[in-house]
Amino acid sequence: TQARQSYIHVVEFDPVMDEEMHDRLQLATELRTAIRNGELSLAYQPRIDLATGRIAAIEALLRWQHPELGHVRPSRFIPIAEQTGLIVPIGEWVLETACAQAAGWNWQGSEECRISINISVQQMVHPDFVAVLDDVLARTGLNPKQLELELTESIFIENPQKISKILDKIKERGIRIAIDDFGKGYSSLNYLKRYPADTLKIDKEFITGTQSDTGQIITASVIQLARDLGLTVVAEGVEQSEQLAFLMRKGCNEVQGYLLCRPVPHDVCEQFLQQFDLQQMLALLGEREGW
Ligand code: C2E
Ligand code: MG
Ligand code: MG
Ligand code: MG
Repeated sequence: TQARQSYIHVVEFDPVMDEEMHDRLQLATELRTAIRNGELSLAYQPRIDLATGRIAAIEALLRWQHPELGHVRPSRFIPIAEQTGLIVPIGEWVLETACAQAAGWNWQGSEECRISINISVQQMVHPDFVAVLDDVLARTGLNPKQLELELTESIFIENPQKISKILDKIKERGIRIAIDDFGKGYSSLNYLKRYPADTLKIDKEFITGTQSDTGQIITASVIQLARDLGLTVVAEGVEQSEQLAFLMRKGCNEVQGYLLCRPVPHDVCEQFLQQFDLQQMLALLGEREGW
């Protein structure tokens, strides 16, 4: 009877689960009309080059302002968009909007400064992906050298041949490739030598981990390894000045995080492009933290 009871328990109606499922279905339906209703927008977060003190790139981050729920977090709606295929039209909107806004910014003649856009695997394997990319570049007039695409390692798990071909086409156009969230999940050093990445973004978990000795050893070796492979190394989620000091000592190329700047609307970001001053910021941090 013990086994029977537990079986019955499994098939029993679970109101919490039902609510979750309803919630996801509801969100999927509403996400379908979100573009049309103007509920989507982009926030921009700069990445700072520690050698020059200048902005190296700006990441576009999707925001959804739901009429009743208010701000819905990407970690909640991006997986739904990926599962329903809605990430294809949404991703196209992101690409178009980010490239158009970036093409209008005053980059102060800096060819090295780029706009960085997150791309989901479902979006990249869509047969029209490269055509859409070409179309967006032609229409917005953005220099392909000022574009970087952020891909997570999960992109490399399935269809490696197909992905390789798409990556080659991206590279042919002068667009850069970044591996996002490195160290989270699958993490295989194999990807680093098999795919033509330019940038490695070390996941926030590794940056948070630098408070322990072991964490410091691991993060420092990832930085060294990436640099030896000729990749630009970026630390994500830098929140504390001790983390920044550590990353500077270990030769990390670029940093991104709340300590330097939170994701901001595009007009604020445009101002930031002209005003950002790392030396001034370091001086302020130094005074505060007694460096
Ligand atoms: P991601 O690409 O790794 O982006 C970095 C995330 O970390 C962003 O979260 C950013 O707001 C957050 N962040 C930046 N600095 C800090 C920090 O110092 N501390 C902490 N705690 N967080 C920080 P966000 O905007 O919520 O986006 C979450 C994820 O959703 C992104 O992770 C990305 O994977 C996905 N995403 C966002 N926009 C898009 C998009 O347009 N397309 C696709 N396919 N995915 C997107
Ligand atoms: Mg990213
Ligand atoms: Mg990501
Ligand atoms: Mg990331």
